[in-house]
Amino acid sequence: MGEINKREPVMITGATGYVAGWIVKKLLDEGLTVHAPVRDPENPEKLKYLNEIAENAPGRIKYFKADLLDEGSYAEAMRGCALVFHTASPFKIDVKDPQKELIDPAKLGTRNVLEQASKTPSVKRVVVTSSCAAIYSDNADVELTPNGVFTEDVWNTTASINHMAYSYSKTLAEKEAWKIHDAQSQWDLVTVNPTLVIGPGINPFATSESFKLIKQFGDGTMKSGAPRWGFGVVDVRDLSEAHYRAGFTPEAKGRYIVHAHSTDFVDMAAALLPKYGDDYPIPRKALPKWLVWLVAPMMDKTMTRKIISRNVNIPWVGDNSRGKRELGLAYRPLQESMNDFFGQMIESGLLNPAK
Ligand code: NAP
Repeated sequence: MGEINKREPVMITGATGYVAGWIVKKLLDEGLTVHAPVRDPENPEKLKYLNEIAENAPGRIKYFKADLLDEGSYAEAMRGCALVFHTASPFKIDVKDPQKELIDPAKLGTRNVLEQASKTPSVKRVVVTSSCAAIYSDNADVELTPNGVFTEDVWNTTASINHMAYSYSKTLAEKEAWKIHDAQSQWDLVTVNPTLVIGPGINPFATSESFKLIKQFGDGTMKSGAPRWGFGVVDVRDLSEAHYRAGFTPEAKGRYIVHAHSTDFVDMAAALLPKYGDDYPIPRKALPKWLVWLVAPMMDKTMTRKIISRNVNIPWVGDNSRGKRELGLAYRPLQESMNDFFGQMIESGLLNPAK
């Protein structure tokens, strides 16, 4: 594919979301015209953070009404765009009906947006925000990889509607994206596959599970300690740069793992202690796996014994070298991401100091 002309508008789905907020900011800072199809363009509350960044940037944002489940609803927003970012997909763990709440918007939404790309002659490239969840469900899945490390060649084969339904939704959605891509030759597809995303949001109250997860480090949930549950993490600001480069680097192709640090809950907490340890009940020690196995399922119904067995005390091992080499990606320190995120939660009132 040739270069994307920066005078043409760029469309992004899910602009109101956590991950997309910083991508929109980057696009606006670069002076681009952003077409943002959202569910609720008449709701000023939902758009106020995007409008604030647009006011201070050389680019322009234009809203349209669309829904992932409403076939054809992205047509108007996509018209004239050469580049499409598809980020919209629910990221939540506690769901009643995984088919309706996760799988349908992920898979049918991808189909809706990408089939619209095939019907829109201006589109040359689509960048889909997939996830490392489309590569693995549990840290123990690393045993299934050829070299004991998660790479872009690995696909999630262990998720199902009953086990890690969010990961299942992302796996089905990315597969659908490649299937639609392979059936045409007008546009090329690049997927960005991030690990857990952390760092401050453009919208400090985004619905993303990232907020719920990091809030637990300061709201007392983990005051007795945290499991050594291995995670890959990446800062939302670095992820925005990764999307931008995936969109505008002509040679970019295929999947890119976007991942900064292999860490765990205990080390993530340790990054917060010097600044916030005196005022917030941040976990200071590792809980033994047997205790987590015994107690956690009683406190949190999303925590099954299978999940605990296959993740706690097992590190996340992934290879991010492709993105560094081909897109020139670089990552900020874990401490910066954790402290900026935590600081924002205090400022916005999501977290209050312990009495
Ligand atoms: P988020 O803040 O909850 O954003 C989700 C976005 O999807 C929101 O803009 C939401 O719009 C939109 N959306 C949901 N259902 C929709 C529907 N039916 N029609 C139209 N839009 C709909 O979550 P996020 O963390 O930013 O996630 C964004 C993407 O990043 C997802 O594809 C997720 O899988 C991926 N990702 C996230 C992480 C992470 O750790 N956060 C890691 C890897 C990959 P409303 O504002 O209208 O609800």
